[in-house]
Amino acid sequence: YGDYNQKIDYVFKVVLIGDSAVGKTQLLARFARNEFSVDSKATIGVEFQTKTLGIDNKTVKAQIWDTAGQERCAIMALQLNLWGGLGHWYRAVTSAYYRGALGAMLVYDMTKRLSFDHMSRWLEELRGHADKNIVIMLVGNKCDLGSLRAVPTEDAQEFAQRENLFFMETSALEATNVETAFFTILTEIYRIIS
Ligand code: GDP
Repeated sequence: YGDYNQKIDYVFKVVLIGDSAVGKTQLLARFARNEFSVDSKATIGVEFQTKTLGIDNKTVKAQIWDTAGQERCAIMALQLNLWGGLGHWYRAVTSAYYRGALGAMLVYDMTKRLSFDHMSRWLEELRGHADKNIVIMLVGNKCDLGSLRAVPTEDAQEFAQRENLFFMETSALEATNVETAFFTILTEIYRIIS
């Protein structure tokens, strides 16, 4: 800590995607700063945070992008599209998000069925823009709200298996599996590129 001369061996970009309010910002806050805030403000614009960690005696800087702003951009582009061809602009912003990403977390809220049903669409967008070898993890967040569960673990497991994704259930609130989820993606990226 406090060693600003630390040598970085790798920088891995990982993007967080999924519907609004599933907990992407809080997962990132938990991972990067070990923080959680109940009334998190909506992320506006592109935001990323970094965390440096060791994998296999190498120093890896994880650069995690929170894509909450993108949803707003999409809505804006759709609205503006009523007047003119801003679809081009949206596609440019989208590609910039995914450019260089080596990993992705597809996040749904396990108490919101719809956020899980939308996973195939997010996956389609991801596969349309990202690198072919991108490491993808399906993440069912808010597992602390067990009594409100709307997505059975088996449904998610089945989807993950079919689509060849890693899968984990997390709670940003209780810090369950958050570290493990990020570490699994980063380790797998490392395994692929080293
Ligand atoms: P985002 O729009 O996907 O970035 O979602 P946020 O991170 O802003 O979270 C949306 C809401 O869900 C906020 O009120 C958070 O406090 C809450 N939230 C996020 N993660 C969890 C979690 O693991 N458990 C619970 N109970 N609430 C969470």
